[in-house]
Amino acid sequence: MAIYIARVFLNPQKTIMNFSNSKVLIRVDFNVPLDGQFNITDDTRIEAAIPTLKKLLEKNNALIIMSHLGRPQKKKNEDGSINVKKFTLEHVVGRLSALLGTPVQFANDTIGEDAKAKSEALSAGEVLLLENTRFHAEEAAGDEQFAKQLSIMGDVYINDAFGTAHRAHASTATVAKFFSKDKKAFGLLMKKELENAEKVIKNPTRPFTAIVGGAKVSDKILLIKQLISKVDNIIIGGGMAYTFMKAKGGAIGTSLVELDKMQLANELIALAKEKNVNFYLPQDSIIADSFNKEAKTKACPSDEIEDNWMGLDIGEKARTEFSDVVEASKTVLWNGPMGVFEMEPFAGGTRAIAHAVAYATSQGAFSLIGGGDSVAAINQSGLNEQVSFISTGGGAMLEYLEGKELPGVAGILND
Ligand code: AMP
Repeated sequence: MAIYIARVFLNPQKTIMNFSNSKVLIRVDFNVPLDGQFNITDDTRIEAAIPTLKKLLEKNNALIIMSHLGRPQKKKNEDGSINVKKFTLEHVVGRLSALLGTPVQFANDTIGEDAKAKSEALSAGEVLLLENTRFHAEEAAGDEQFAKQLSIMGDVYINDAFGTAHRAHASTATVAKFFSKDKKAFGLLMKKELENAEKVIKNPTRPFTAIVGGAKVSDKILLIKQLISKVDNIIIGGGMAYTFMKAKGGAIGTSLVELDKMQLANELIALAKEKNVNFYLPQDSIIADSFNKEAKTKACPSDEIEDNWMGLDIGEKARTEFSDVVEASKTVLWNGPMGVFEMEPFAGGTRAIAHAVAYATSQGAFSLIGGGDSVAAINQSGLNEQVSFISTGGGAMLEYLEGKELPGVAGILND
C-alpha cells in the first residue's frame, strides 16, 4: 500500500488542476436521501462535490456527471422493470443547478442515444447529468463494455466519489482503464479524504489514540488489527466491548456478544500487549433490563452484569478514563459509537467522547471521524465544526484504514 499511496501526492497530474477546455467525465456521489415526494432531505453529498465541479467549470471544461442513486436493481417494480420514478437522478437536477449557479441538462439514459447526443453537443461551461448508473446491472458487475460506453463520452476522467471508492464498479473503477494516466485524476473531495486518512495512518503526531465502537467485533477486526501496529492507545466501546469482557471471563448478562469471536478478542488483547499499546475497555456500563428507551437502567462494572440485564452504554468511570486518554492525544481516530446513542438514555457515553475529541482538537490535536454512525453521533452532539475532519465515506474510509486497496483509487493510479 505504501507505494501506491506515495504516488497520490507526489504526482501533480493527480489533481484536477491540469484539465482545461476538455469534456470531463466525472463520477460523483449524489446518492442523497429523498422523502416520499422525492424531495432531497439532506444535500450534504451534492454540496461536497461542488468545489470540484466549480473549479472544472472555471477552467472552461464541459462536465458529464455520473452517479448512482439508491439500489434500483434490488428494488425493482413487480414486473421486473426498474422503478425509474423513484430512482431517477432527475430528482437531483434542481438542487445541483441551484448550488452550481448554472443550468444542468439531464440525459434520460446512461449510455443510450440521449446521453450520447447530449454529451456530444455539450460546450465548454455546460453541465450534463447522466441517468442513474445503477439502472444497468453492468454497473455493479464492473462490466468492461458498459464502462467503455461511458468512457467514450469524455476526453478525461475524474473520480470524486470517495463514498463508493471501495466498490469495483464500472463508473468508479473499470472506466478508468480507458483513460491514460495523464487523462485521469482525483477530484478535490477524493484528494482531501485520502490526504486526511494518510495524515492519520502515515504521519500521526503522538500520542495517537483510536476509538473503536459500534455493534460487532466481527465488523472491525481488520481495523483493530491494523490500528494496533500504529497507535499508542486503543479504546473499545459499544456493543463489541462485551465480547472482549466475556473473553476475559466477565459476566455480561444479555449484552451483545459474538461467542465465536472470543478467542480472537483475546488474541487482539495479547497483540496490543506485545506491541506496547494501551488497550482500554469500559470499566463500567449503563445497563438496562430491555433494549428499549423506556427500560429500567442502572450502572455497574462491565464484567459484573447481572443475568437478564444488558450493557447499552459506557458508564461514568469509563467516560472519565476514556476522555482523559483522548484529551491528552495529538492524533485521534474515531469509528463507531460508545453505546446505543440513538436512544437518549444510552447516548451519554458517545456524547462524552465527542466532547473529549472536540477538546483535544481545540488543544491542537488532529481528529478524524470516519464511519457512518460516528458521523451521525458527532452531528447529534453539535460538535461537527470542532473536529478536524469528518469523512464522507463510511465503508470506503473503513477499508482504507484497514489497509485495503480501494478500486476507485487504484483505477486512477494504475495505467
Ligand atoms: P456500527 O455500524 O458497527 O458502527 O454499529 C453502530 C450501532 O451499534 C449503532 O446503531 C448502535 O446503536 C449500536 N450499539 C452501540 N453500542 C451498543 C450496545 N452496547 N449494544 C447494542 N448495540 C450497540
